[in-house]
Amino acid sequence: MTRPPLVDTFRRTISYLRVSVTDRCDFRCVYCMSEAMEFLPKRDLLTLEELDRLCSAFIELGITKLRITGGEPLVRRNIMQFFNAMGHHVESGALKELTVTTNGSQLERFAGDLYAAGVRRINVSLDTLDEDKFKAITRWGRFAQVMRGIDAAQAAGLKVKINTVALKGVNEDELFALAEFCAARGMDQTWIEVMPMGDLGNENRLDQYWSLDDLRATLAQEYTLTDLPDSTGGPAHYVRVGETGQRIGFITPLSHKFCESCNRVRVTCTGEIYTCLGQEGHLDLRGPLRSSESNEPLERAIRKAILLKPEGHDFDYSRGTVGGQISRHMNHTGG
Ligand code: SAM
Ligand code: SF4
Repeated sequence: MTRPPLVDTFRRTISYLRVSVTDRCDFRCVYCMSEAMEFLPKRDLLTLEELDRLCSAFIELGITKLRITGGEPLVRRNIMQFFNAMGHHVESGALKELTVTTNGSQLERFAGDLYAAGVRRINVSLDTLDEDKFKAITRWGRFAQVMRGIDAAQAAGLKVKINTVALKGVNEDELFALAEFCAARGMDQTWIEVMPMGDLGNENRLDQYWSLDDLRATLAQEYTLTDLPDSTGGPAHYVRVGETGQRIGFITPLSHKFCESCNRVRVTCTGEIYTCLGQEGHLDLRGPLRSSESNEPLERAIRKAILLKPEGHDFDYSRGTVGGQISRHMNHTGG
């Protein structure tokens, strides 16, 4: 029996689920985590079996695109067991896309397994091509390891898109170098405006904020950019670069709003559903999931959460202060 689709009160159909499978990570990126991050007790996490049950329930309710994120999803122990379970939904045709956002550190080990599980496209986060800057941004990351990871992913047949956080005074001077790096490897790239997440000590987001309007204008000085129609229903707006053929995307939560076409919800590794990345509101799905072997309570809770999905987020830097800041760290909801 087909169930009614997930539609919110603003008539947006929810077809895209992003699931954070861990809050832990082998990096400590300055805009994402504090160095002395405290992680959730393991007992609070959904088990891999529970994650499977939860995602499978969403798929029955019409989710066709599933992105696995974190923390660093590939550091969760036995995570391939979960990918393989989701791969069955790809095989059956219920899931049109199974994908992952990763810092790339574990790809050398897992790229082949991801492909075998049905993953075809992945996002790898990379903000710089300079080893020292890479160290300064990620604190614990190793640049060469990530490069080997990207190589392994491409060799395994995965289509790689690079995600880059735009950081004023940090990677501004690498705008063209990063574009050329991506073009030479046949990779698309998406720039992300830095968002005011978490209390990260003395990091100053206003100083780091590099508007993607400015970034795009600089790109246009050297490249011919043609706007592409918005096709993902997501926050990224893409252009085609005439000179290289690659696509470059811009995720602009601050300088433009995109909420009216939002088709996604997020679930954390403890089973909280957030229907808007930029708002604090969330509901617990772990309780309903654990309360019964039947999925009925879970399905009721999912539908209730969807009906509470807010119209949009309130991030705002326009008054010269960080407005709409929320206290969660990005690794909690997975970006
Ligand atoms: N660890 C994986 C990774 O780094 O790709 C997946 C999780 S990470 C939280 C997802 C994305 O969020 C990454 O591309 C990261 O650069 C981005 N991100 C983290 N903190 C951010 C912030 N404050 N503003 C904008 N993007 C952020
Ligand atoms: Fe880890 Fe990704 Fe956050 Fe960096 S952005 S600390 S890699 S979760």
